Amino acid sequence: MPVTDDELRRAAELLRAGGLVAFPTETVYGLGANALDSRAVERIYKAKGRPASSPLIVHVDSVEMARSLTTEWPSEAGALAERFWPGPLTLVIAKAAILPGIVTANLETVGLRVPSHPVALALIRAAGVPVAAPSANPFTGLSPTTAAHVRENLGDRVDIVLDGGPTTVGIESTVLSLATQPATLLRPGMVSREAIEEVIGRIAAAGPASVEGPHASPGMHQQHYRPRTPVIIGEPSPGHRSVYLYREHPSMAATENVLMPRDARAYAASLYSTLHGLDTGAWELIAVEELPSESEWAGISDRLRRAAQHRP
Ligand code: AMP
Ligand code: MG
Repeated sequence: MPVTDDELRRAAELLRAGGLVAFPTETVYGLGANALDSRAVERIYKAKGRPASSPLIVHVDSVEMARSLTTEWPSEAGALAERFWPGPLTLVIAKAAILPGIVTANLETVGLRVPSHPVALALIRAAGVPVAAPSANPFTGLSPTTAAHVRENLGDRVDIVLDGGPTTVGIESTVLSLATQPATLLRPGMVSREAIEEVIGRIAAAGPASVEGPHASPGMHQQHYRPRTPVIIGEPSPGHRSVYLYREHPSMAATENVLMPRDARAYAASLYSTLHGLDTGAWELIAVEELPSESEWAGISDRLRRAAQHRP
C-alpha cells in the first residue's frame, strides 16, 4: 500500500511538532525525529533503549541541507555525494553548531546521508527539517525491513508508521568518515569499499580491533543486529533444532535448510526478513553458510558476524 499524501502531511506535521515517525528508507526502516529539536531526539534514544553514546545518522533531502549542518564540505564529500546520493552512503563530516550535541553523542562530527526511498525524501521535504533516524528497532536488535517489523517491535512508542513496503537494499548504510586523512570506512555496506575508492582513491578501514579498542568510534557496538535466536556462521552440529541458510551446499546436520540468493544484492535484500521470519522461538540455532570474501559481500558478512556475537 503506497503512503497517501494525507499520511505524509500528518507525518511531516508530527516531525515539526517534536514527534517520532517511523518511515521506510532504501536500507531499513528508520525511527525519525527533527534533528534540530533535542527533546524530540531524546525520545528516539528512549524508544529504542539506545545509549546516548551512540550517534544518530541525520537524513537530509539535498547536498544543500547537508552543508547547512556542517562547518566544511570537503571535495571528497562533493564527489561522493555526486556519485552515491541519494543512496546508502553516510558521510561523517565536522558538524555545525546548530545541530544539538545529543544527535551526535557529543562528537564534533555528524553522519549525513540523502536516502533514495521516495517516501523518505518526500517526508524530509514536507517537514523541511533534517531528520535524525537510527533503525526503528530496540537497541542491539535486528533492523526492520517492513512496517510490520516496526509495529511488532516498537508498537505504540512511535507516533506514526509510514508503510512503504519492504526495503530494497536491506542492510544499513555504509558509513565513511571524511574527518580523517585518508577517509575511514567505519561500517561496510552495499556501497562497497571498491566503489568508494574509484571516486576518492585509497581509504582506510576501521579494523575489528579498533572497534572495541580505546579509540573506538562511538556507536560501533560489536553486539548489534541480533535476532533473539543464537546465530552461528558455518554448519550446525547435529542434535540441535537448527536451520541453515545456505547459498551453495545444504547441511546434512541441520534440521532444515533454507536456500538464500546467490547474488549479494538479493542476499542483502532478503537477509533481515529471513532472520525475522525464523526468529519466532521455533529454532534453537540459526546457522549461516560462510559468505564470499569479495568487497560486495563485506557489509553482509559484517552484520552476520555481529549477529553471531555471543551474549555477555
Ligand atoms: P544506525 O543509526 O543504528 O544505523 O547506526 C549509525 C551508526 O553510524 C553508528 O552506530 C555509528 O557507527 C555511525 N555514526 C553515525 N554518526 C557518526 C559520527 N558522527 N561519527 C562516527 N560514527 C558515526
Ligand atoms: Mg540500528
